[in-house]
Amino acid sequence: MGRLDTRVALVTGAKGGIGLATACRFLREGAGVCLADIDGNGAATAAEELRRESRNVLAVRLDVTDGAEVEARVSEAVERFGRLDILVNNAGITRDALFFEMTDEDWRRVLDVHLTGAFLCSRVAQKHMVDSRYGRIVNIASVAANGNRGQANYSAAKAGMLGFTRTLALELGRYGITVNAVAPGFIETHMTRTMAAELGVKFETFVAEAAENIPVGRAGTPEDVAAAVSFLASEEASFINGQVIYATGGPTA
Ligand code: NAP
Repeated sequence: MGRLDTRVALVTGAKGGIGLATACRFLREGAGVCLADIDGNGAATAAEELRRESRNVLAVRLDVTDGAEVEARVSEAVERFGRLDILVNNAGITRDALFFEMTDEDWRRVLDVHLTGAFLCSRVAQKHMVDSRYGRIVNIASVAANGNRGQANYSAAKAGMLGFTRTLALELGRYGITVNAVAPGFIETHMTRTMAAELGVKFETFVAEAAENIPVGRAGTPEDVAAAVSFLASEEASFINGQVIYATGGPTA
């Protein structure tokens, strides 16, 4: 028996990194999983790999900022699996710049993908969850919510996500739906690889320097984050609502 047997999850931004590790973990724990990503081919390729382990996988192309697409893709997932129990709002981008150089587009796109995307996906998902009086929404925030140089847009979006998480927890708890966040620190993914490239630093050096400031002495992996998400997505976590788990390898100020 897996911890998530009979459960169905939709993970956004799931073609790689934290989203894919989470989808993988859910599958191993017995859930049916819909991998949704703006890169539909990337999601399909990832799903093909996962099908070696389980047939319970669907891949869809989804831009989380497009409300009509969100409606359609969530319906497709519900049609395929018959229900929706777990939503992970993981899709994300960075458009880093010092504040005085940040463009309207840098600001709007980052807020749109993280915050509006989580809003649109959660609003559609909760209808199915309220109907079945059960649900788990896990939002991927970031330690950057506390402020991070060069990330006024990203930091604001992630801080917004924490308020969003708490408010949904207050409103949806009575329907058996819990809403929590996982706030990762430095995780080795395509996102941090891109940051290193933009700074002109070798990724290995970037990771080693980050690890020096992490109490457990290493950078995080997507699987580290997936473990926390999977716990919050399980039935065991039913009394944990509106909380944030920091997956940062150390205490967070
Ligand atoms: P990632 O591998 O780049 O994953 C993000 C995924 O989201 C990508 O596949 C991306 O596709 C997709 N995406 C972008 N815009 C989208 C949209 N509009 N609709 C649907 N999907 C979209 O990076 P990651 O590190 O795993 O990031 C996952 C989450 O963790 C993000 O929310 C990020 O902010 C958060 N996080 C990461 C770290 C870290 O250190 N890596 C730390 C804290 C929080 P494209 O590649 O095609 O853009």
